[in-house]
Amino acid sequence: MNSKRILPPLPTVAHILKLYNVQARKHLAQNFLFDPKITDRIVSYAGSDLAGREICEIGPGPGGITRSILRRNADLLSVVEKDARFIPSLQMLADVAQDRMRLHHADILDFDAKTAFSENKAVPWMESGLPQFCFIGNLPFNISLPLLFKYLDDISHRRGVFELGRIPSVLTFQYEVAERLISLPGDRQRCRLSITAQYLCHIKYCFTIYGSSFVPAPKVNVGVVKLVPKQHFDIQLPFRTVDHVVKHVFHLRQAYCVKGLRSLFPPQRDDLVAQMIKVSGVNPEMPPYKLYMSHFRDLCYTFDEICEKIPQIREVDTYSDKDWKKYFDEHGEPIVEGKSLTHPVRFNDSARERAT
Ligand code: SAM
Repeated sequence: MNSKRILPPLPTVAHILKLYNVQARKHLAQNFLFDPKITDRIVSYAGSDLAGREICEIGPGPGGITRSILRRNADLLSVVEKDARFIPSLQMLADVAQDRMRLHHADILDFDAKTAFSENKAVPWMESGLPQFCFIGNLPFNISLPLLFKYLDDISHRRGVFELGRIPSVLTFQYEVAERLISLPGDRQRCRLSITAQYLCHIKYCFTIYGSSFVPAPKVNVGVVKLVPKQHFDIQLPFRTVDHVVKHVFHLRQAYCVKGLRSLFPPQRDDLVAQMIKVSGVNPEMPPYKLYMSHFRDLCYTFDEICEKIPQIREVDTYSDKDWKKYFDEHGEPIVEGKSLTHPVRFNDSARERAT
């Protein structure tokens, strides 16, 4: 083994916190992992040997996962940490790892993650392989969903860091969130997040970390999840369109899905709701959590086609008739094919053709 890749003896992660007198901060959702068996296990889902791989670690904190990544021989590790108190101890790790580790004092939500990876090692989306890159993070609970939504949006456009290819992520989520990410039709946890993540990514539940394994211990357990962007998305539409439709369908979770569909359109446009149902073939009395991905796909394509004719429908995101009225008062009622929006519009079945 290359001697450069062996870490010299270091103070333990717990000692590092004492040494630098760092205490967990609640507003940064800091819950640390000290046990190398757990940090090694998280990292193992990125690969058993990381030689030749480049890793971006989100929120390294005192560096437990960071050490596991370095021990597995990663070629390059970029760590992104927001809390300045960890920078000196992370700098110590960067010094011993020499040119294998780069330290970024930044907020991951603003960080240009493309700089973490070598562009010349990108793998185009239409090639079957994955790039030798990976995100790893024991995420703070308060940013895990905003970050996931940002990445899903970027994946759907194959932009930002995902221009470099189908980069996998191994991330922690609050257990209930992890469950939602992997829920299937009929599961009680199936929700907006299940659809918007699964249409873009293969998702694997790796293992559970009990709250008691963290310092300080959160009241909840944590699920480790691996997401790999799909080569061909189940729905060929941008994240925002899919999320908009799915959010409305799930608006009334226990009710018939037709109720949620109604909230996508202005009042008195039940003909558009009927169009959605006819073209997608969805049973209007089905509760949303029982619908399959193919149902959501057909609903999204039909909605997108309706919006091609009446773009204003995309602009209003509300569950209230009052807001539609306000929008019409402010912008005037759109005229489609010589008729006002309160008149039915005819559509063909091209959305169904796109879906088949
Ligand atoms: N990886 C460490 C571990 O497993 O022990 C720390 C995990 S702790 C749950 C989350 C870490 O993310 C903290 O170090 C916190 O300061 C950092 N963090 C919080 N918000 C962040 C953000 N927006 N960008 C980058 N790091 C952030």
